[in-house]
Amino acid sequence: MGRRSARPKVETTLADACGAGSPLWAPWRSAYITRARRGQERCIFCVSHLSAAARRRRFILCADKIYLVMLNRYPYNAGHLLVAPRRHVSSPELLGREERSALAEAVTGAVVRLRAALHPAGFNLGANLGQAAGAGFAGHLHWHIVPRFAGDANFMPAVAGIRVISQHLAETFRVLAPRFAGSDGPIS
Ligand SMILES: [Zn+2]
Repeated sequence: MGRRSARPKVETTLADACGAGSPLWAPWRSAYITRARRGQERCIFCVSHLSAAARRRRFILCADKIYLVMLNRYPYNAGHLLVAPRRHVSSPELLGREERSALAEAVTGAVVRLRAALHPAGFNLGANLGQAAGAGFAGHLHWHIVPRFAGDANFMPAVAGIRVISQHLAETFRVLAPRFAGSDGPIS
């Protein structure tokens, strides 16, 4: 019997994208994860009274009284969004029915807008509950929306670098912001 040749991995699960198999190589995340777990990072989701300039600085695409949508500053991939409730809660069962419903709509809306703006081939969607599951900010529930592109697991190492990523974030924000225009309410 001949040797079986190694089969290339053609599918990536959310767990893979978030570190379990690491086909998406995102070394810039390690320092941030370490700081967040030591409690050295303020909660990035608890924000109030943001000016338009501050929102651009924080890459917040939309926010209303129930949820906000922002670019992940330490992305797994181009267009990686985070959707979080405004309330600092750690798990979905701590949300009210209205919040759960609004957040589900927000996740769906983010997928629709990313599809229209970036034309990804697929998505990884999900949330990590607790540090054991890989959450950087375990105290504040948030959903990851990670667009996937053909060949992205090979592409990202070639462009890795904090400077490149920060330029990419500003450009991604510029592309996505109009898609979210008018979808938010006043930040309180
Ligand atoms: Zn918070």
